[in-house]
Amino acid sequence: MNLFSAWGRKSPPAGSPVYDFSMIYQRHMPREELVAAQLEMLMQSGRRSTISLHFVGIVATVAMFWPYLPLTVTLLWAAGFLALLLARSLLMSNALVEKRYRTHSLRVYWQLILGAALTGVVWSSAYILSTRYVPVTMQYAFLLLIVMITAFSLGFSVVVREYFVIYMFASLWPIGWWCLIHYWDQPYNFVIGVALMSFCALLIYVCDQTYQPLRHMIALTWEREHIARELSDLTISLRDRNRHLTNARRQLTDLANIDELTGLGNRRLVNNVLREELNRARRTDTEISLIMLDVDHFKAYNDHYGHPAGDAVLQQLADVMQRATSRAGEVVARYGGEEFLIILPGASAPAALRTADRLRQMIEKEAIPHERSPVSPYITISQGVVTADAETEPDDLIKLADQALYSAKDAGRDAIALE
Ligand code: GH3
Ligand code: MG
Ligand code: MG
Repeated sequence: MNLFSAWGRKSPPAGSPVYDFSMIYQRHMPREELVAAQLEMLMQSGRRSTISLHFVGIVATVAMFWPYLPLTVTLLWAAGFLALLLARSLLMSNALVEKRYRTHSLRVYWQLILGAALTGVVWSSAYILSTRYVPVTMQYAFLLLIVMITAFSLGFSVVVREYFVIYMFASLWPIGWWCLIHYWDQPYNFVIGVALMSFCALLIYVCDQTYQPLRHMIALTWEREHIARELSDLTISLRDRNRHLTNARRQLTDLANIDELTGLGNRRLVNNVLREELNRARRTDTEISLIMLDVDHFKAYNDHYGHPAGDAVLQQLADVMQRATSRAGEVVARYGGEEFLIILPGASAPAALRTADRLRQMIEKEAIPHERSPVSPYITISQGVVTADAETEPDDLIKLADQALYSAKDAGRDAIALE
């Protein structure tokens, strides 16, 4: 059975608005982890203090007793006690290094309790035996030493209450009883016995008062670390999701604005870009031109060469258009079936006409055969060019470009018309 379960709980007084810390750690920190944390804390603070505190006690005892007892007896006692302390310290170091307080917490727990009990018994038996051989004043000095050691050890061992209580019951308690039983032997035995019993009760009270808050502190620290870890995990995963969402949104926007066949912008992109560029032109008081172009007799091309061949021509023409417009801000888009739009920000009418003519020549160079065209043995295009003034709206600009395109068609195709 684990003594933790018997000692660890306390019900709050009825009716009082008590903040029940135990509910927090019982709900969150697993009991085994709490016990392991307590053991770890006890051993970390107790390992050095156990050795040093009792070592000072042993040296003081030898110094006090050597005139009254044979030196070999005193030294043998000191050596035996030191061996016990070393064994305890080694046990704690090993348990800490191998983290056995996590895997075998119950075993480590009982080993610690046994070590504390043995140490207490060494002190109490030394006192009781010494009463036969050393003068009363020396006995009282020795008792004072034991009381001081016990009180000091409270500081670091209170985190495992049973450890401290058992140590106290093995050291001070038997001395108290012995004094009460032998009250007639020495003048102050009764008083000392009563004082020791009261001191033990006081220590238990102090231990009890400190123990619960300590456990709560451990549990809250654990909980805080857990929450912090969870929050950081959550932040990382949120950041991940956010990045994915941003990428997905960007892909969606791209898909919505891009024509599948040619990889150019589509009508949707034209509407957005044109509005932005017209606003900019208005703000900066610059010109903006638009070319609308249409493949000549393309229906006939499709009818003769087939639709897939027509698609390939559209892709080829798109490529040429992109090469013909290399300045920053210039946008080529597929506006309809085989109609394209070129937005030329900052371009005056003559500049736009030059671009249109360059494009016409480049397509001429491609020399894509079109047997059924009455205009030319090769694919040709008609272009309508328009330049915007500050008042023109996007829709009007497109209408004007369309009209110019019709003029070019009317003029016999393979032509450029300016609106
Ligand atoms: P015009 O010189 O007056 O422009 O004569 P046209 O035959 O080119 O007439 P129009 O501009 O009305 O041509 C539309 C044709 O374009 C109809 C269709 O066969 C073809 N077309 C439209 N979209 C596509 C497409 O995505 N792929 C292919 N292969 N052909 C298309
Ligand atoms: Mg056409
Ligand atoms: Mg057309």
